[in-house]
Parts: sequence; C-alpha cells; structure tokens
Amino acid sequence: MSLVAGIDLGGTAINYTFLDSQEKFLIQDLFEHPARSKEGPAVCLHQIAEGLAAAASRAGIDPAAIAIVGLDTPGPASATGVLSARGSTNFVHADWAGFDIRAGLEATLGKPVIYLNDGNAGALWGHFNIFGARADATSISAIIGTGLGGGVIVEGRVVKGRSGFGGELGHVLLPYQSIAGIEGIVPQCNCGRVGDLESLCSLTAIGKTLLPHFLPCFPGHEYHGMEIAQAAKLVRGRAERGDALSREIFRVQAHALGIFFDEMINTFDPDALIVGGGAIETGPDFQAWFVQEIRNGMPPQRAEQAGIPIHIMPNGDTAGARGAAIEALAELRRRS
Ligand SMILES: [Zn+2]
Repeated sequence: MSLVAGIDLGGTAINYTFLDSQEKFLIQDLFEHPARSKEGPAVCLHQIAEGLAAAASRAGIDPAAIAIVGLDTPGPASATGVLSARGSTNFVHADWAGFDIRAGLEATLGKPVIYLNDGNAGALWGHFNIFGARADATSISAIIGTGLGGGVIVEGRVVKGRSGFGGELGHVLLPYQSIAGIEGIVPQCNCGRVGDLESLCSLTAIGKTLLPHFLPCFPGHEYHGMEIAQAAKLVRGRAERGDALSREIFRVQAHALGIFFDEMINTFDPDALIVGGGAIETGPDFQAWFVQEIRNGMPPQRAEQAGIPIHIMPNGDTAGARGAAIEALAELRRRS
C-alpha cells in the first residue's frame, strides 16, 4: 500500500504526518522534531530525514511505502520551493538564500518531493476538512496569526501562481475607510502597503495600529502602562471575556475580513469561506460572535452570495503538515 508524508518545516520545529490512499491520517496528534534551521540547509535537511524516520517508526510505517513527500515552509519562496534570494525571516543562515529546498530534500530522501508555502498548505487542510481531497469545490482561507496567511483553492486545486505568490491574501488592499470607529488611522503593513488585510487583521496590526488607536478612548484601562507587544498578546483572551476595548479591536479585524471575503465572493463565487489561526483559537461562543461580525462587515450582497458559509478551521498546529500531505496525495493521484 502506498502512502504519502507531510512535512511542515518551521523556524524551530518540524511537524510530520502520513496520509493513506483512503484519506486517513496515520498520526493523530503532533509529531515534532527540532528543526536546527539556524545551522543552515545541510544540517536541517539531515534533521528532516532523521525526523521522518522517527515519525514513520512511531506510526508503524515502512519508510519504503512513502511514495511522495509534501513539504511546506514559510515563504517567501517560488512555486517550486526555491527560497527567496533575500532569505526567509524564519531561516536565519546565509546558505538558505536562493536555496532550492524542494530539490535538496528530494536528493536527501531519494523520494519525489512537492512543495507548498505554509499559507497554501493551511488552506488545503481547511478545504479538506469540509470537502475531502477529491472534491472540485472552491474555498478561500484566511489564517490570522502574527501576519495574515491563507490560500485560494479553485475547483480542488491550490492556486500557487506564476512565482509562488498566489494566495498572498494578507497584502490585498481593502477600502478600510468604510469600517466604523477607525477614522483617521493609517494602517501600515510591513510589505509597504497601507490598508491591506494584514495591516488590520493580524497580531502585528493589533500592536502596531489598533491598540495605539483605541487606547486613548479607554482611560484607566489595564493596557495603559504595559509594553504594547505584551498588551497585544492579551487582547484575544480579554476580548473573549468581554473587555470592551479588546472587543472593539476584534470587531475591526472581523469587519476588515468581511470586506476582504466580499471581494473574494465577487471574484470566485466560492463554496466556502474559512477562517483560522491563533486569533480564533477560542471557545465556540467567541468564534460564533466573530463569524457574525465578519458578516456584519460585509457590504449588502445578493441573496445567493449572502448564503456562502463561513467555517472555522480546526487543528492549527497540524495544519501545515496535513495540508502538505493532502497536496502530495493529489500529486500521487495525478501520476497514477
Ligand atoms: Zn502587506
């Protein structure tokens, strides 16, 4: 029986999973191995191979049964897995610049390797949860973390684009001036744009723009006198418990996402909208409130458009490895 592996390489840890031809994951929880990415590609590729052998042993799998390996990493990287010449913020070693990590891993493992960036892998996992691997459905996923990642799946296939920048949803510009309560703000993104989705809807946006904007409206709030980065990390928990300032911040993020999803609805007419990431790793009540606020942030729509469901993406920690495995299974089916 042939199966595929999914490997999610982060700055500090590597996550593994396996997926069989029945679309069943063979590792239920997280299997982690240290990445050692700071020591450069030669050390790190060896680590990936060592961890894969350990993961196979843990899952009771013969490594020879692994037909294709799916690999995902943070970008920027080309569609075929060549890391940016300027290097990656997560892989701090000079030898990573311009490194073909897909080809490097293929040579190390002696098996075919396919590549995705972590946003697109997360989007595939979110899509798979709703539609399975075979369905030709269309979905848009937005994953709210430090930045804003995600991806676009059109009729069952992930959009990587010409240079690997397909699905860079965080840098799509929004008419954010229509969001109530943020008159006069200038939401600056690290990419250089003003007013894109990530500039409003990310942990970075909370510390950089939204907290400094709202804090003066709430004199005596506990966030006064805290380091802004420390306060930013408290906002989700406080919002869940009903703190008015923190709720305002999440309302603005949800309305930004509503505007963005409306743009995607008019572009793709998708079967599903999916939201995930640390921002909504909360209880179901807060998730339901957030989804309703996303809807509240959308402009008036045709009845057919207003019915497109908004789903919450499960299992944040395993999303990358699972998405990479799903893409590897799709590739296996294309080849056979
Ligand atoms: Zn941006």
